[in-house]
Amino acid sequence: MKKLQPVRGTHDILGDKALRFRSIYEIFRRTAEKYHHHFIDTPIFEFTEVFRRTLGDTSDVVSKEMYVFEDRGGEELTLRPEYTAGIARAFMSNALTQSVPCKFYSYGPIFRYERPQKGRMRQFHQMDVEILGVPNVQADIEILALASDFLKGLGIGQHVTLELNSLGDSESRTSYREALIQYFSGFKKDLSEDSLKRLEKNPMRILDSKDEGDRALIVNAPRIAEFYNDYTKGFFADVIAGLDSFGIEYKVNDRLVRGLDYYSHTAFEFTTDQLGAQGTVLAGGRYDGLMQQMGGPETAGIGWAAGMERLAELIAADKIIAPIRPITVVPVGTDSQNAALKIAHDLRLAGFHTDMGYSGNMGKRMKRAHKSNSAFVILVGEDELTRGAVMVKNLDNGSQEEILLDHLQSYISGKL
Ligand code: ATP
Ligand code: MG
Repeated sequence: MKKLQPVRGTHDILGDKALRFRSIYEIFRRTAEKYHHHFIDTPIFEFTEVFRRTLGDTSDVVSKEMYVFEDRGGEELTLRPEYTAGIARAFMSNALTQSVPCKFYSYGPIFRYERPQKGRMRQFHQMDVEILGVPNVQADIEILALASDFLKGLGIGQHVTLELNSLGDSESRTSYREALIQYFSGFKKDLSEDSLKRLEKNPMRILDSKDEGDRALIVNAPRIAEFYNDYTKGFFADVIAGLDSFGIEYKVNDRLVRGLDYYSHTAFEFTTDQLGAQGTVLAGGRYDGLMQQMGGPETAGIGWAAGMERLAELIAADKIIAPIRPITVVPVGTDSQNAALKIAHDLRLAGFHTDMGYSGNMGKRMKRAHKSNSAFVILVGEDELTRGAVMVKNLDNGSQEEILLDHLQSYISGKL
């Protein structure tokens, strides 16, 4: 029954995994809002051009990972393979270019046609933050502080390392590019096919190659720090001074380039050794050239995205936000079913989290109430109803008391 299986690389989110996802999202949302980022939700598909123009033809995402399709009207569309390009598009579509700075956060599914393996899916989920219109290092420092704060909130601060690099301004990158082209041109026959294509178009991308042959050549390739001009050096030093003053630890990794074309200056990844090969949990950087590349006015930008599935493996047990304990209302016999439903309804309207013990024998219903971590079971029986009362059983200590319906809510709230 192949058709009853989820598509390869996709997964259902329920049970413990669902609890982890909603806890992580909640911690993310609170942290992003603490830094005064605003929620934004962009469409799950965009014109393919939005991604192709910005991410670059030589990026893994554009060259082989996008879910591109033609809709019934003949439009070429792509399922969201990352957040930044769509948010930049929305920024321009909504004429926000005069309203900078803008600080956004978002969360949702991302689609990439990759080889599925642990920590690598075809539909996965990202949490994303962006600051648009702040060209100076304050934004770099704050966006990194937000990342660090978020990961600490998940109780995993000690398991992650911030790897940091500067990709420089365009002048620094141009000289570095030339040096890379010169270096790798000497090894044309050893380069992978993908990297050979990148050589002229975007040689820095070779440094991000996962091909083993390429990796061996990369070891001796020129290092970007040697090509920084004074502006780049100063910018990077200011970012580092900011992190130092916040007590945020980092490791400079001058081999770190990001997979997409639009980055400049600060680039970073938070990595862990707890997840095997797929160890990057959060990654991002500055993308000052992106908006212009899309045909908009020059607008600075910086942001990051974190992978939900990878973080779900890591979140500390005591950071998982348990659902609020419910009260379970159980009718004793069919005659009291309607009365029980109404009691549950009134409790909910009064703000109590309330479940119903719908059917099954009494033993089964009590077991279910225990399993759902209920604090109380309210037994609604004919006898008690004639007295305007119900039986309330405290599941923590097993005690049970007849309570007048008029006093039910105050009785429960006094004991919760
Ligand atoms: P990688 O080098 O692992 O392919 P990437 O550079 O493609 O990563 P980004 O585009 O920066 O990743 O995405 C940000 C985060 O999203 C990653 O750090 C990771 O946690 C998560 N992520 C990326 N691709 C996948 C995937 N296919 N499945 C699950 N999570 C992913
Ligand atoms: Mg990738």
